[in-house]
Amino acid sequence: MAPNVSDSVVADTGSNTEAVLPTANTVPSAVWQRKGRPQDTVNDPNNNETSQSANISSSSSSNHCDQGTAHPAPFRARIRWPDFFAQLFVHVGFLVGLYYLVTFRARFYTYLWTIGLVWATGIGITAGAHRLWSHKSYKARWPLRLLLMFLFTMCGQRDAYTWAHDHRVHHKYSETDADPHNAKRGFFFAHVGWVFLTPHPEVVAKRKIIDMSDLEADPIVMLQRRFYVPLFALLVIGLPVLVPWYCWNEQLAVAFWVCFTLRFTTTLNIAFFVNSVAHMFGNKPYDKSISPVENMAVAIAAMGEGWHNYHHVFPWDYKTSELGSYVFNVTTGFIDCFARLGWAYDRKSVPPEVVARRAAKCGDGTRFLTDEYAHQDAVWGYGDRDIPKEDEDAIVRTQC
Ligand SMILES: [Zn+2]
Ligand SMILES: [Zn+2]
Repeated sequence: MAPNVSDSVVADTGSNTEAVLPTANTVPSAVWQRKGRPQDTVNDPNNNETSQSANISSSSSSNHCDQGTAHPAPFRARIRWPDFFAQLFVHVGFLVGLYYLVTFRARFYTYLWTIGLVWATGIGITAGAHRLWSHKSYKARWPLRLLLMFLFTMCGQRDAYTWAHDHRVHHKYSETDADPHNAKRGFFFAHVGWVFLTPHPEVVAKRKIIDMSDLEADPIVMLQRRFYVPLFALLVIGLPVLVPWYCWNEQLAVAFWVCFTLRFTTTLNIAFFVNSVAHMFGNKPYDKSISPVENMAVAIAAMGEGWHNYHHVFPWDYKTSELGSYVFNVTTGFIDCFARLGWAYDRKSVPPEVVARRAAKCGDGTRFLTDEYAHQDAVWGYGDRDIPKEDEDAIVRTQC
């Protein structure tokens, strides 16, 4: 996409101890991307800051005429071995759990329990950490925040503050060195490599300037952060494993490998697919200049989070898409249910005219594939009352 993408990407297989990123060459990529964005995102003070720092670095490090300036040392990501072995453990554990499931060693209720946990804890991510705490796309009263925090904690994907912090940085500096899981560094890095590699210095720098004051004022978020380690032991391992063992006499080993490792790793990889697949394979109906795409498979697996081109263009929309159906957006149905109860409120969304305008201006022309509004002005032929008056008047009639 970016003209100098190849300059900024070094294959990062994760199997090597170090992945080298030539920082000097990545800077023009960031500048190009800002210039390529529509007007409405250019005037952001943080973006200006990015451009300014990028230009300074660019002039001091990538200007070929400036032979006298010393080049900064290239960034070398190092493997964080504890995180690497944690990922290795849970993924091997996934295979052990899968063995128990496909050989029918687990009890029937263990299957139901595992599926239910994947779904429920997934809602904790999508409706909680993502749409509520990261994007503030709706508001929730404390009982719903508590429920979402309980479910989110069970999924085991770090504390909500840290999750939302990185996610805000991801949106603000998407596809640049400051993006924690920059998809331009390859599929493997965007999917899982970023979890066990040391972050790029730009990520560390941008984390410091993202406003997190709203979450710092949320006692539920801060309490979960403070007690995250014991909560992890209790809700990610303890409860999911002990319930089947106690309630329907499941073997402890089966409960551990299925209800902890397999269940945990399944949810983890679905979330990872949003960072990798939904940044690479699909349509771009709303903005073709950015990497995030619309991907139905990810949307189904991640309960509505695969409409990623739309989501990156309108991150404040609680629906994360313009689809009216809940079938491919279960999370929106969940939030709407709680809105009827009064526990969710102030749901932000984008009017169809604004979406249509943006798609016409920046999209790749595929909006009609995913958009129910796209057919609003379509006509079936002569005689359709929706033919515009001026078109009707201009119709050429050849009588013979
Ligand atoms: Zn998001
Ligand atoms: Zn994204």
